[in-house]
Amino acid sequence: MQRDEPAAGSLYLVGTPIGHMGDLSPRASHLLTTVDVIACEDTRHSGQLLSNLQARGRKVSFHQHNIRTRLPQLLEFLEEGQSLAVISDAGLPGISDPGEELATAARQAGYPVLCIPGPCAATTALVSSGLPSGRFCFEGFLPSKGKERRQRLEQLSSEHRTTVLYEAPHRLLTLLGELSSCCGPDRPIQVARELTKRHEEQVGPTVEAALAHFQQTRPQGEFTLVLGGATPMAQPAPSDAELTEQLQQLMAQGVSASDAARQLAATTGLSRRRLYALLHQDESD
Ligand code: SAM
Repeated sequence: MQRDEPAAGSLYLVGTPIGHMGDLSPRASHLLTTVDVIACEDTRHSGQLLSNLQARGRKVSFHQHNIRTRLPQLLEFLEEGQSLAVISDAGLPGISDPGEELATAARQAGYPVLCIPGPCAATTALVSSGLPSGRFCFEGFLPSKGKERRQRLEQLSSEHRTTVLYEAPHRLLTLLGELSSCCGPDRPIQVARELTKRHEEQVGPTVEAALAHFQQTRPQGEFTLVLGGATPMAQPAPSDAELTEQLQQLMAQGVSASDAARQLAATTGLSRRRLYALLHQDESD
């Protein structure tokens, strides 16, 4: 823990639990207890956490519907030299919530912006899905309808990386149905429900299986979807003309016909005899 935290005139994006209260870090807890102002998505929702911590800072609501009016006020706190923390209803502020706008505005205005890292539903779901996590995309909530939504779904159909999506429970079945149509019923998926909470579960392994499960069991709670990437299309086999050209290129470099066939056989997995025959066929034409 940094002894000089919170610093005057600095913005802190503070990660809070997505379910399990044991996930609040000592550093986050210290910061929230001592900071001058706390911007919360929902002051009532965060009230319990902040009162348990005996946080004495001023609480200010900051949500989707008051971003425009609140931003200048929050920047003014920083200008006055007050320390400011922002927390979302759950998780890491700045991921699919107004913390993003505040961080952008504060940085543009030249104030220090620091993150006190904590749980995030997207990364928690990703790493426990068992799907490839070396390269991944985050889509958050898809646009709710229309052309934009269709375009994003279309992009997902050919996306090779694992993609993480957020969805509200009453829209989960619609989304799974759309994913089945655009990505195919066999596309791998893990639907993470109620992460870090008592009834945490992951439902998969395919879009079809998840859809069937939630058609039987009404979706309740919070959901993060981890969608496997599209399988890369197999490369089309090279034509005889392309193979002949490659053989001739090797021979133009001084490689004998039989060595050219051997080298190309090693890189393509094709039979040396067949490649050699292509050269003879070319000569006889
Ligand atoms: N900033 C948050 C974060 O770092 O995860 C996300 C905020 S976004 C407004 C809320 C969405 O996150 C929910 O609708 C749900 O899709 C996902 N989410 C939050 N908590 C979750 C949990 N415990 N299990 C599964 N998904 C969760």
